[in-house]
Parts: sequence; C-alpha cells; structure tokens
Amino acid sequence: MTVATAFVYLLAAVLFILGLRFLSSPRGARRGNWVAAAGMVLAVGWTVVLLWPHFTPAGALICALGFALGAVAGTVGARTVKMTAMPQMVAMFNGVGGGAAALVAVSELLGLHGARPALQSGFPSVFAIVVGGVSFAGSGIAFAKLQELMTGTPITYPGQQAVNALLALIILGLCVLVLGVTGAAPVFTALLLLALVFGVAFVLPIGGADMPVVISLLNAFTGLAVAASGFVVGNFALVVAGTLVGASGTLLTKLMSDAMGRSLANILFGAFGRPQEGVGLAAGGDRTVRPGTAEDIATMLAYSRRVIIVPGYGLAVAQAQHVVRELADQLERRGVEVQYAIHPVAGRMPGHMNVLLAEADVPYDLLKEMDEINPEFSRTDVVLVIGANDVTNPAAKNEPGSPIYGMPILEVDQAQSVIVLKRSMASGFAGIDNPLFYDPKTSMLFGDAKDSVSEVTAEVTSL
Ligand code: NDP
Repeated sequence: MTVATAFVYLLAAVLFILGLRFLSSPRGARRGNWVAAAGMVLAVGWTVVLLWPHFTPAGALICALGFALGAVAGTVGARTVKMTAMPQMVAMFNGVGGGAAALVAVSELLGLHGARPALQSGFPSVFAIVVGGVSFAGSGIAFAKLQELMTGTPITYPGQQAVNALLALIILGLCVLVLGVTGAAPVFTALLLLALVFGVAFVLPIGGADMPVVISLLNAFTGLAVAASGFVVGNFALVVAGTLVGASGTLLTKLMSDAMGRSLANILFGAFGRPQEGVGLAAGGDRTVRPGTAEDIATMLAYSRRVIIVPGYGLAVAQAQHVVRELADQLERRGVEVQYAIHPVAGRMPGHMNVLLAEADVPYDLLKEMDEINPEFSRTDVVLVIGANDVTNPAAKNEPGSPIYGMPILEVDQAQSVIVLKRSMASGFAGIDNPLFYDPKTSMLFGDAKDSVSEVTAEVTSL
C-alpha cells in the first residue's frame, strides 16, 4: 500500500468514526450521516482510482452499472420509505452487504482455479462466505416477515434445533475441506448454498416481533463479513468500515435485548410471538373498558398541572407528531407542564420516537428517557398514551407468566389518570392483552391518533 493510499483510507476511517460520534445524539445525527457518507465516497473513489489501470472495458461497464443501480436504489429507497417500514429497508440494505461480501470471497477463490487457498486469505474467505451468506438469506426472511409477505409467527417443527445444529456442523466441515484439502468450485459453492439455507433456517423460528433485534444482529454479521472480505482483497478501508458496523451492530443488539428485558438466546431460540391462550390478563380480571370523549379528555388535560405524553408505534402510523406538538403548545399556554416519556423500544427501531418528535420541533430537553421519567409518574396528573401499547403493559411487571414479563416498561399506571388513544382494543407488537386498558383510572379514546389528538386540541382551545 502506498503512503497516499494509507493516508486516504485513514482519513476515511476517521470520517466513519466521527460520523458515528455525531450519530449518537439527535442534534448531530444529520451531520453524522453526511460525514460518514463523505468517508465512504472517499474510500470508494480512491479504490476506483487505484483499480483504474487494471479495468477492462467490460469491468469498467460492470462497475458503472453497479454504481448506478446502487445509487438509484439507495436514493429512491431512502426517500420513499415510510418511517414505520425503516426496519425492512435496513434488513434489505444490510442483506445485500452480506451477499456482496460473500461474492467478493467467492471471486477470490475462483481465481485460485481449484488450488487450496493459503490460510491467511482462505480463512477470511470462508468466513465471509458463511457469515455473509447467512446474513443475506436471514435478512431476506426478516424483510419478508416485516413486510408481511409471509407469516410473522415463528415457524417451528419438532427437532428444528437438531437440524440447525447438523447444518452448522456440515458447514464447518466444508470450511475445513476448503482450508485443508481443496479450493475446488463445487466445494465452496456448496458452502455458499448451505450458508444461505442456514440463514433461512436461523430466522424462520423467530417471531416478527423480534425482527428488529435480528436485523441488528445480522447487521453485525454483515459488518464482520465485510471486514473479512477486506482482508481477502487487502483493502484496509473495508476492514475498518466492516469492523465498525460489526461492533456497533453488536452493541445495538445488546441494547435492544436489554430494553426488552430478554436475553439474546431467548430472542433467537425462544420462538417468542407464538400464539398463546389467555396470556396478558390475569384470569378472571375485570375487563371493563371506560371510553371517554374528546371533550372530557380535553378538560382533564387542560386543568392538570402536569401531563406526560407517551408516544408509541401508533403515533408513527398516524403521523400525529405535528398535532401532538400543537396540543402540547395549547396546554403549555394554559400553564400545564408537558413532558414526553420515551421507551427505548417504542416504535419499530431505537430512536424512532425521538426522530418523529424532532420532526415536529419538540424541544429535546422535554424528551425524557425511561429511567429518568419512571419516578415522575406518581406525581403526574394525567398520562396521555398515544398509540403505545406493549411499552406501557403492567403485565411486564406483575404477571410472571406473561411473554413480556421482565421487560422494563414506562410505569404509566402510577399516575393519577391515564388516557389511551388507539383505534381499537387490538394488541400491540407482542400480540398480548394490556391490563392497563381495563384499569379504573384509564379512559380510552378510540380512533386514529391524529384525528383524536386534533379533536382534543380543538376542545382544549375552546375551553
Ligand atoms: P405496540 O406495537 O405495542 O402498539 C402500538 C399500538 O398502536 C397498537 O396497539 C395499535 O392499536 C396502535 N395504533 C396503530 N395504528 C394506530 C393509529 N393510526 N392510531 C392510533 N393508534 C394506532 O407499540 P409500542 O411502541 O408500545 O411498542 C413497541 C413494540 O415493538 C414492543 O413490543 C417492542 O418490544 C417492539 N420492538 C421494538 C423495537 C424498537 O427498536 N423500537 C425493536 C424490537 C421490537 P390499534 O390497532 O387498536 O390502533
């Protein structure tokens, strides 16, 4: 590597790290994205400059087509995707990254014309093929589950773990064969195919509700596969970028599992989300629901001293962030103190609620994280839950049999009164009943969150 190449790749690595640094706060996130993208343009651009003398016309055309296809798919995808469909898009982009890493390794092995690869290039090659292949196929299934192209319920069958373990063993055997005996194309092709089958088999038994965590894990896999392919082709920028993705994906996976109060093993092997009878409400519990009107609710809110708004996935679906901000403005004008309680997995991805509320210019300092806000609920007059369900479910605290038992929740049931805005009595992502809705201190206002909040705001304004 020349000094110039080392310098450019080092600069790109610094930009990636700075990008991640800025991305860790909502204030700097936009800048972080630009900085990291600039690092990637630099790294890719310099690699093209390095390869230029070796390009055949056909090679140059393939590269240009690849760039054009990637740029169009990326730009159109990112501009048109709904915020609520972001996990699917991440799954798709992440999957193709893993697939690309696997193909880079395949092309290196093809270049050996059947000879056994040297250990230092052979090991990263088989690693990239296996991990990249698993990530590609697994992300495809995760995408299909979230996009509802297939059932979101875990697909299980007797002896599944044993079949998966056997598959893993055969894959390991083929890796040893490639590294120790032969680099023949049929062997590493079989390795790639089995890695794809394993990716499918690995994600099938995991429920749709856990897909965002799985996507984050597969994202970490892709990072590691890309880092390995960086070793294969001797590209230091790929090694750094892949390692950063691998490390941040691993940390995010851990944070998400913790926020759901579950171990990663339980998420991967627990088949969470399989329909279960009678879960979520203690047997014989009172199921009386107390529907309210926009007028009653406006009065409760307007004459409170302190209101906490709890946003959830339904707020994102309804795109109610701007009307929520208007309601909060009206209440503040009347002297009511308004804050927002943010659960780490409210919505469909970490930071989902922060981004939505930032869109409506809600001041960041009013957004309170779970640990900070939980002690405040007991001295709060009204909690307004807007399209949130699982993250407020007291069963996570009180019902040891509940699938979400142990998940840290926003303890909204500690407030004087609770108002829940949603369209029906349907369950949330976890698919279980919520005893909060039957609590005597809870009033429900049924309807689309945006319409309901607008009606309540109009009533508050007319008081
Ligand atoms: P939930 O999915 O639990 O509940 C959302 C509620 O919104 C539903 O009960 C639905 O009820 C209501 N809703 C949907 N559309 C509308 C609408 N237009 N207007 C009003 N209400 C609407 O969401 P939460 O945010 O409370 O919880 C997030 C869930 O996602 C948790 O189970 C979490 O574990 C899971 N998850 C989140 C991840 C993350 O990173 N954020 C990662 C992995 C999982 P109705 O249909 O009656 O309107």
